[in-house]
Order: sequence, then C-alpha cells, then structure tokens
Amino acid sequence: MPDTERNGRDYVVSKPVARRATDPNLRTGAEFRESLRDGRHVIANGRDVADVTAEPTLSRGIDQVARYFDAQHDPATRDLLTTIEPDTGERISTAWLVPRSIEDLWRYDAMIKCSTSLSFGVFGRPPDYGPVKAISFVAWNHLVRKQEPEALDKIMNFLRVGQRNNLTSADVIIDVQTDRKTPVAQRAARLRVVEERKDGIVISGAKAGNSVLAQGNIGTISMPPPVPGMPEECMIWAAVPANAPGMTLLLREATTNGAEAREDHPIDADGEEADGLLIFDRVFIPWDYVFSYKNKTTADIYNILGQFAFWKIATRLSYRAEIFAGVAQMIVDALGTDQIPAVRALVSEVIHYAATLRGMMTAAVARAKPTESGVMLPDHVFVTAGRLHSIEAYPRIMQILRELSGQGLIGRVPQATWDRPDIGPLLDEYLPGHKLDARDKNRLFNLVWDMSCSPSAMRLALFENINATPAPALREELYRVYDRGPAMAAIRKRAGIA
Ligand SMILES: Cc1cc2nc3c(=O)[nH]c(=O)nc-3n(C[C@H](O)[C@H](O)[C@H](O)COP(=O)(O)OP(=O)(O)OC[C@H]3O[C@@H](n4cnc5c(N)ncnc54)[C@H](O)[C@@H]3O)c2cc1C
Repeated sequence: MPDTERNGRDYVVSKPVARRATDPNLRTGAEFRESLRDGRHVIANGRDVADVTAEPTLSRGIDQVARYFDAQHDPATRDLLTTIEPDTGERISTAWLVPRSIEDLWRYDAMIKCSTSLSFGVFGRPPDYGPVKAISFVAWNHLVRKQEPEALDKIMNFLRVGQRNNLTSADVIIDVQTDRKTPVAQRAARLRVVEERKDGIVISGAKAGNSVLAQGNIGTISMPPPVPGMPEECMIWAAVPANAPGMTLLLREATTNGAEAREDHPIDADGEEADGLLIFDRVFIPWDYVFSYKNKTTADIYNILGQFAFWKIATRLSYRAEIFAGVAQMIVDALGTDQIPAVRALVSEVIHYAATLRGMMTAAVARAKPTESGVMLPDHVFVTAGRLHSIEAYPRIMQILRELSGQGLIGRVPQATWDRPDIGPLLDEYLPGHKLDARDKNRLFNLVWDMSCSPSAMRLALFENINATPAPALREELYRVYDRGPAMAAIRKRAGIA
C-alpha cells in the first residue's frame, strides 16, 4: 500500500492540522477554518481572494461547515456524526467509514439526519457527503481491478488519509457546457491528461459546479455520464487538493452577501454553499492519487459508481422534506387557517412528499445488499425512484409553502424597522398571529422566505433539481433497472399469452 503520509505532508492535505491527543482523527471548527488558509487560487467577481475564510460571501458558509466539525465533539451529537473504525479502533467521522453492514448504513442515515437538522440541509455537499466517490470505488473494485489491480490500494490509502485528516471533498464531475454537437474529443475544455510523467499525470481543461470546493479541502475528480467517442486520456478518476498549483476556481455570483441580519434571514444569515467553474492549467497529480486512468470500464459506469452519492443526496432531501412538513404546519397554525379543508389538503401534500420519500429511503436501506467487493449498498431502484420523486415534487412543495403563506412573505418587516420605538409597538399590536406574537410570526415568514423565495433558495432548488443527473436521466435509469419480469410473467399466464 502506498504511504503518502510518510513525509508528514500529503499531496491532498494542503495544510495539515496537528493531530489531537484525544480523537486524533477529528478536528475542531477552528482547525477546519485554518486548513482552508492554504493559498488556493479563487476568483470572486474579478478579484483574487487571498483568504476564503475572510471573504464575506464565503465565510458564513465556512462557519456553518465549521460548526459541523464542532458538533463531532459535542456529546449531544458526537455519536451521530462519528464512529469507531473497526480496523484501527479509532474514532473517525462516520462519513469516512466504509459501510459493511446494514447497521453501518443506518449509522449513515442517522448522521445525515443530524447534519440536516444542524444546517437545514442547505449544503448539498456537507462534510458527510464527500467520501462517497472513494467508498464507491471500494464497492465496485471487482469491476475496476480487471484493468487496474493496484486501484484498491490507492483508494484505501486515500480513505485512510481522508479519515485521519477528516477532509471535506467536493465532486468534480461534470463537463462545462459547450456545444453538445461537437465531438467530445474536440471539446477544448474536456479535462484531459496532457502529459504522463514517471511520478504522475499533468491535466488541463475545466469542470462545472464544484460545489463547496472553495469552502472545503479537496476535490474528487470522476467521470460524467458516458458519451460516445471519449478519448482515453480523458478517462480520469483522481483527487486534488483545493490549492493544487495551476488550479483556479471562478466563483459564481453569490446569492447571499454575508451581512444579512439573523432575525431577517434565519437561513441566509448562515451563508451559502459556493459553486464555481474550475480551470485546470497543467495541474500535476501524483500516481498515488490517480485512482483510475484510461480504464474504459470505470469511464462507462457513472450510474453504478454514483450509487452512494445518489443515496446520500436523496436521504438528505428526505430529512429536508420533514422540515418542509413542519414549516407548512407552523404557517397554518400561525395564521389560524388550519381548520380550512383546502388548506389542510395542501399541508397533506407536503406530508405525503415527506412520508413517501422517507419510506423510499427506509426501503433502500432495508433492502441493501453487499456488492461483490463486500460493501453494503442501498437498493438502487428505491434510491432512483426516491430521487426522481424528490426532484419532480420539489417545485410543487416550494409553491405550496408560498401558497400557504399568502401575504406573509411580502408583509415581512425588517428587524431595523421593527426596532424603531415609533413603529415597533404598532406592529406588535397590529400583526399578531394565532397564539403567536407579531414578531415571532414575522420571524417565521422570514424563514419561509429564505426557504422558498430568496436567491439562495432558488440556487438550492436548481441544485436539488440537477445535481448528480436531472430527472430525464433518472427516468431512463429507472426504466433500465426496475424489474418488471415477474409481473409480466404473471400477466402472460393470466391472459393466456404464450
Ligand atoms: C447549483 C448547482 C450545483 C452543481 N454542483 C455540481 C458539483 O458540485 N459537481 C459537479 O460535477 N457538477 C455540479 N453541477 C452540475 C450538474 O451536475 C449538471 O448541471 C447536471 O449533471 C446536468 O448536466 P449539464 O448541466 O451539463 O446539462 P447539459 O448536458 O448541458 O443538458 C441540459 C439539459 O438537457 C437535458 N439532457 C441533456 N442530456 C440528457 C440526457 N442524456 N438524458 C436526459 N436529459 C438530458 C437535461 O434536462 C439537462 O438538464 C451543479 C449544477 C448546479 C445547477
């Protein structure tokens, strides 16, 4: 097995954190923040960002991720977010555990429930998401190893480094949008190896999305859904640190400004997950972190290697859905509209969304089976059906929250106005809700705004809709994997069809 840590400095650990005396694999929020001050090249609105932790549109999101790491030490959440690694007996982030049993998958489920309740699930790539690609690689090693027998050693080393440093990883998968009719080999931005060296590869090109990379430690590069004519120098699975020389992250326009008052914006005041266009200009990656290269099998199995990611995404959304149901109820309770049958029916739609999604995710774990390489894998049919359901109904659920709120969403009064002695008392008197004072009712609609109307809510809706494949592709996948065979045999028999 490679020992890339032997010199005390690892390629993917851009800024090592001193290992703690107790629980050396965990780190605090402050230590996480420090790990991001690593000289990475990030550009925001035309400006080089010297320190992402001091950049207003990034720092509150970083603080939110930092709270996740602090929660790993908090007795109330520690056992939900961390676990004992069976081989070493050391405590690690549960996210870096390779699940070998259904019990391990339930551990994951509890972790995602906890992290979603901490952040309201607004980060699609929370710290507990990133290791999915590495774990998938172990799960499907029996496919990868036919061409690359050394891949497992490399990925196990990556997992060990990830565990020991509690790294956060962004998904670096999707190609940038250019003319889809241009043959893939001729697309200039296609990430490709431009030089093979004795010690590693040199890559150039670009990738889209890259959510959380500016606010995290590393990116895991993997292949997008297969397209015909993919040149073999583009078939790359690898890991890079966020500060890799030659790598530049161009941030999209921010949807929060880093100065929102907490009372006015209970969700947006915690910042946002940043996306960006990632440019590679001759970026070197040592062979130890090139997990797969020129392997046609690996390049062709996006839907197989993505299965842990798809499951985690749908599980997070199932717990967000429970929050939506709670919010819907609080709106109608606050307005005293809960006795109106048509209103109750709308709340029921949200409950239906949440209960169906949770049911699918529960079934996905209950019906999990080990892969040939011995990793426990949630049921792909339930995961795919769950994801499709979560995506299709999401716009409707957001619309229901807005519908139930009526004028509440635009009747919100900013904290600074409410604090005026000539205005506040009048608002207190004029605007109370049902068993809820006026200011708390205002707070509730501030939250509903951030959840269903604000620019960051729209960005999150885009994310939920399209990250890790959009609905049309999910329908195609469901068509491919759902077994209709037994039902068709029964129908043939009953109808007398030979
Ligand atoms: C907020 C946000 C965050 C993101 N974060 C990440 C990230 O962290 N990492 C990452 O790698 N990517 C990320 N993405 C990119 C995302 O994965 C892609 O947008 C998505 O996979 C669709 O690919 P595309 O945009 O290239 O669509 P295109 O290929 O440009 O196609 C446009 C549309 O055409 C339809 N379509 C095209 N081809 C097919 C097909 N074969 N089958 C069915 N329908 C099709 C779909 O409706 C698709 O949305 C992010 C996107 C958003 C919006």
